[in-house]
Amino acid sequence: MSEHTIYLDHAATTPLDRRVLDAMMPYLTNEYGNASSIYALGRRAMQAIDGAREQVASIINCRPTEISFVGCGSESDNLAIKGIAFASQKKGKHIITSSVEHHAVLHTCQYLERFGFTTTYLPVDEYGRVHPDDVARAITDQTVLVSLMYANNEIGTIEPIEEIGRICRERKVPLHVDAVQAGGALPIDVKALNADLLSLSAHKFYGPKGVGMIYVRQGVRILPQLQGGSQERGRRAGTENVAGIVGAAEALRLAQEELPEVTPRVRALRDQLIEGVLTIPRSRLTGHPTDRLPNNASFAFEGVEGESILLSLDLYGIAASTGSACTSGSVEPSHVLVALGLSPAWQRGSLRLTLGKENTREDVEKVLSVLPGVVEKVRNLGE
Ligand code: PLP
Repeated sequence: MSEHTIYLDHAATTPLDRRVLDAMMPYLTNEYGNASSIYALGRRAMQAIDGAREQVASIINCRPTEISFVGCGSESDNLAIKGIAFASQKKGKHIITSSVEHHAVLHTCQYLERFGFTTTYLPVDEYGRVHPDDVARAITDQTVLVSLMYANNEIGTIEPIEEIGRICRERKVPLHVDAVQAGGALPIDVKALNADLLSLSAHKFYGPKGVGMIYVRQGVRILPQLQGGSQERGRRAGTENVAGIVGAAEALRLAQEELPEVTPRVRALRDQLIEGVLTIPRSRLTGHPTDRLPNNASFAFEGVEGESILLSLDLYGIAASTGSACTSGSVEPSHVLVALGLSPAWQRGSLRLTLGKENTREDVEKVLSVLPGVVEKVRNLGE
């Protein structure tokens, strides 16, 4: 029905910014040296990586030596959590996280449980927020890490990280912040957040896929999780993805520089979407009404399968997402919606619309013109 895709899934990934591709291009073509080689071609590759590192460090307010480049956001989360856990097991084997984290965090904690670690999965309120007092109460003398997300990938809720960070500092427990969804949408200042470790992923802010970043505060010891050469000062073996690293740094610079222009524009589109979608009968917003990512509009519809809405929207050329995952034919509700306490009749009908800087008012109007009919049709088929 439509040739042009209205892309409303920027929390899944974003298109590569043309300016980022331009910055990467030399390292995809003529400047192909291995950064470990000592001749000029290799040295230029190393200089490019060092420049990218300095750029990222100055943006997130840390030293270049505190930044390492890795293979994706998931790897960054894995390295932070396993890296701390295995380095600190003499002190204790207790980790604190929340029930609404990304699987890159949840499954890593579950993996560590096989090695004798225990995890506290903190509950959240109806908006998906962790309460700082719950963090304080959960910390014991065995706790070696608190790992919490800055902003939720499904419902967009922003967590009170600064306050949680203050508590962790006081109690001398390192805090890892999964800032993968926040990197392109909120200012990132590791000192203001009181973060000891922080994870970012370039493809969430118009950078290339397959490049992650990790901040590790000086003095915080982690064990590398990939053995081999001594790249990234021994923190992550493997020949560096020079073009990807240059692209990641440029994408972060552009995203953060353009926040003052992009944020109000995208937020206005989001609010228009929310207002329009909530006129649909038996619909509700999921996530916090105001403390949410400026680009995230997520909903639940009672008595509807989210997957069916997605497939119908796809016919209109609209790309969106649902929190539900289809496993062996049955649709499992997302762990995030379950944690919010949504009743089963609402859990399966989730729809996430995440805007980007290239979306327009026409895109929003198109969605609002088709979505009510889609929900009604799908609901009538199912009930
Ligand atoms: N953490 C959060 C909150 C995410 O949203 C994602 C990706 O969706 C990840 C981690 C994993 O990032 P990547 O896709 O780069 O592995």
